[in-house]
Amino acid sequence: MTQEDLFKNIIAHAKEYGFIFPSSEIYDGLSAVYDYGQNGVELKDNIKKYWWDSLVKLHDNIVGLDSAIFMHPRIWEASGHVAAFNDPLIDNKDSKKRYRADVLLEDHIVRLEEKIAKEVAKGRKRFAESFDEEQFRTTNPNVLREQAKIDQIRLEMNKALNENDLAALHQLILDCGIVCPVSGTRNWTDVRQFNLMFSTPLGSNSEGASQIFLRPETAQGIFVNFLNVQKSGRMKVPFGIAQTGKAFRNEIVARQFIFRMREFEQMEMQFFVKPGEEMKWYEYWKQMRLRWHLSLGLGEDLYRFHDHEKLAHYANAASDIEFRFPFGFKELEGIHSRTDFDLASHEEYSGRKLRYFDPETNESYIPYVVETSIGLDRTFLAVLSASYREEELENGETRVVMRIPPFLAPVKLAVFPLIKKDGLPEIAQEILKILRLEYNCLYDEKDSIGKRYRRMDAIGTPFCITVDHQTLDDKTVTLRDRDTMLQERIPIDNLPGIMDDKLNMKHWLGKLT
Ligand code: ATP
Repeated sequence: MTQEDLFKNIIAHAKEYGFIFPSSEIYDGLSAVYDYGQNGVELKDNIKKYWWDSLVKLHDNIVGLDSAIFMHPRIWEASGHVAAFNDPLIDNKDSKKRYRADVLLEDHIVRLEEKIAKEVAKGRKRFAESFDEEQFRTTNPNVLREQAKIDQIRLEMNKALNENDLAALHQLILDCGIVCPVSGTRNWTDVRQFNLMFSTPLGSNSEGASQIFLRPETAQGIFVNFLNVQKSGRMKVPFGIAQTGKAFRNEIVARQFIFRMREFEQMEMQFFVKPGEEMKWYEYWKQMRLRWHLSLGLGEDLYRFHDHEKLAHYANAASDIEFRFPFGFKELEGIHSRTDFDLASHEEYSGRKLRYFDPETNESYIPYVVETSIGLDRTFLAVLSASYREEELENGETRVVMRIPPFLAPVKLAVFPLIKKDGLPEIAQEILKILRLEYNCLYDEKDSIGKRYRRMDAIGTPFCITVDHQTLDDKTVTLRDRDTMLQERIPIDNLPGIMDDKLNMKHWLGKLT
């Protein structure tokens, strides 16, 4: 199966099993907006909780915040978003389709990388045991040629983006021979800048109403509350403020399902440090955030760092943690050293001091900031796509199973009476009564037990508990494991302890301390 087909299957599965629905579907949908269904909302909340607890619960010096989506419009002038939160867009005159110029170039680079990957695969086949990938990549002429092309495109693209040279960007697209995926032609318009913020009038009548923006990131709510939190919480630098919440961007090209949405959710943490110490903390948070991702157990080879050459206007260092989605490695989280850009700018625009008084040195200064910024929906997609498996079983049947990390699973366990009589449903309900206080559980008595197991596999339920006639005699049940499909007989009294061992988020959090 191609990666494209796999991705289509994942999207269809997400809809069929109540993870994600297209927004406003009965009105033919709204582009790049999605709703989370009954299982999606649980998975999303669990991811959010794991992120939150790993920062706010596990660190004495990190606290939370929930700032409003609407903010004073001057905030977005101070942050640079009004002037510079733009994407370079380009239209194809034949298909009338609109693209982000940098994304067209990035996609072109991915195609060149695929060519290299094919060469490497050929080499591996040819040289078998004696294959040395490192040597092959540094000596094979075909690989070197494609790599040189990639390096050159990156260099020119970053230069053009840094210098805001839209003509150079346009020329690079022509030079690379990039065609529109829809029309197949190179009939491109000039490249133009497009601001990504949504705006709306505030107030009931248009007179006197001011134009406000839907926040394009949650970070600014943290900056403008920096002193409120610092003073009320008596926080000492270094300290962090974490926040999750909706952000809105009028993305030019919204595609790849929930990867790029117009309304999405971010989980951001701004860490305030002493100027001069930001690089130490930047490295620290890069490693900490990677550890968090790896702790999910989806696979180490699915992650990589991508250090930025083109830096945003506020940053002196930036790196992405990229994830291998079915459509290739793409940004999942950004770690940015933002200097004192934001606080200094808010000082200037608001006329209020945003300084920290250091009691040890008796000095006041504007702290520097290292931020970790992760998309909740993208993390959801990472978990969804890495967990989805179509498996062939020994008896020739197939099953779709979501191998979601157990502590994140939307439904943690299901309880089934083998049949709907002989007192079995009553015992199942008794078990449920105890376990549902701790976990999201599901009760199901319809269809054969095999069908019920399949339904639970499809939503990633880690455990199924079945009450049968033996339960009446010895108060034991079978416990079936989603991944191994093995069944064990367990005394009912042992269930809470076993479930705590296997499902409690604290075991995963413990690995991060
Ligand atoms: P991209 O280059 O993919 O547009 P970005 O660099 O603009 O992303 P940031 O501004 O660093 O993204 O935002 C932090 C995180 O928010 C990203 O790493 C991503 O996970 C998430 N994110 C950003 N834009 C979107 C979007 N349109 N839909 C879903 N998640 C998003």
